[in-house]
Amino acid sequence: MALRFFNTLSRSVQEFVPLEGDAKRAGLYCCGPTVHDFAHIGNFRTFVFADLVRRWLEFKGYSVRHVMNITDVEDKIIHRVAQTNGSLRDYTSKYEAAFFEDFQALGCLRPHETPRATDCIAEIISLIGKLIERGTAYRAADGSVYFSIEKYQARGLRYGQLLKLNFEEMRPGQRVSSDEYAKEAVADFALWKARVPADGGVFWPSPWGEGRPGWHIECSAMSMKLLGPSFDLHMGGEDLIFPHHEDEIAQSEGAGLQAPGRPFVKYWLHGAHLLVEGKKMSKSLGNYFTVRDLLAQGFTGREIRYLLLTAHYRESFNFTLDGLRAARTALGRLDECLGKLREAAAGATAPPDGNMLQQLTDSLDDDFNVSAAWGAIFEWVRNINRLAASGKLLPGQAAAGLAAWQKIVLAMGLETGETAGAPQELLAVLEQRNAARKAKEFKRADVLRDQLKSAGWAIEDTPKGARLKRL
Ligand code: AMP
Ligand code: ZN
Repeated sequence: MALRFFNTLSRSVQEFVPLEGDAKRAGLYCCGPTVHDFAHIGNFRTFVFADLVRRWLEFKGYSVRHVMNITDVEDKIIHRVAQTNGSLRDYTSKYEAAFFEDFQALGCLRPHETPRATDCIAEIISLIGKLIERGTAYRAADGSVYFSIEKYQARGLRYGQLLKLNFEEMRPGQRVSSDEYAKEAVADFALWKARVPADGGVFWPSPWGEGRPGWHIECSAMSMKLLGPSFDLHMGGEDLIFPHHEDEIAQSEGAGLQAPGRPFVKYWLHGAHLLVEGKKMSKSLGNYFTVRDLLAQGFTGREIRYLLLTAHYRESFNFTLDGLRAARTALGRLDECLGKLREAAAGATAPPDGNMLQQLTDSLDDDFNVSAAWGAIFEWVRNINRLAASGKLLPGQAAAGLAAWQKIVLAMGLETGETAGAPQELLAVLEQRNAARKAKEFKRADVLRDQLKSAGWAIEDTPKGARLKRL
């Protein structure tokens, strides 16, 4: 079966056929974090989902070019910088670094490109210039440049591709300069914001005077710079559908850089929001969690990731600490089962269990149905446990299970931190060493430890059991 998922642009579940057809290449852009503060776990629901999409495309043989921007200039950031004595970069670099630490703790693969908006000012200015040339953007009296929805539509282009807009309520001539204006507003939006005293030192020269870019234009410029004027897949949380993504389409298609008949983006994929303890996250409600808060409470990035990946991306998901404890138990069952497989395989090798992989493929190809995928995985765990309990788990069968798991774990991004990347045969040696210690055969355990050491891996004994760590 081919991969199918819900395309916000067509409002239907569609088969994924990349623009390059048979080439098996896919360009993926996901709107990245605004580095004004530590990202919260709601933000990470979106990023973990984008990571799953990338991993799944790679599992299916696509060569993916994954781009995620860093929004390091917008209203909130400028407001915060104004309260410090430092520069914009002084302020944002701390949160940018923290973001990537958390991102990595959650097992997300580093995107191939992570452009910062402030490093792409030239491309942003050039794109605004093209919109002005085409008569779709205009300079207002204060030196700011706005996108004209009326002029865009007058060129026969469509505003309102991602959602139906009520143009009756549209008030032409109205404009908004805030990056965070009310969603209902269908108004001209700022592409370039003229410098005002509150901006402090945050401004750049441009043909329209000193100022800074609006938030929406940043993503149009960065995505097209790195993926070309037409690319396959654009992601983000559902709150970005309007106005951010609608405006991205308008700016990108308004500049007319696409080949005839080609869209800016073929598939738009949006993830639903995360609620915490049933409510929208807010600092005053005390239900606001960052990844680092949860790590400080003793949870692991792998447990958080697993929990985030138990819910379908189109359903809002209620995150609870109880849910996180249940995630720990589920992963414990999984890891215990893998331990049994390694023990039973005793170093044997076999091709991956095709049935297991097929079930995973059927589930994830079906609009990223993670519930069905986990259902199949835990059914498999139950079977293995039954076989192991009755002494019927054969080495070849165990090895086939392990080989399948190695592929699954890569697709889901659930490698165990320290053990991540350790070859299967060394994990088997680790199991043998654990068994030797249990049986009080300490000499043999030491020999096996040395064997691992000479292969470049150290054993680390933790309260949760022994792990391998690269030397
Ligand atoms: P921001 O840093 O605010 O620009 O947001 C980064 C990403 O997180 C965007 O794709 C948002 O749509 C997404 N996002 C924000 N809040 C949530 C939430 N509660 N649940 C899921 N995604 C969210
Ligand atoms: Zn964006």
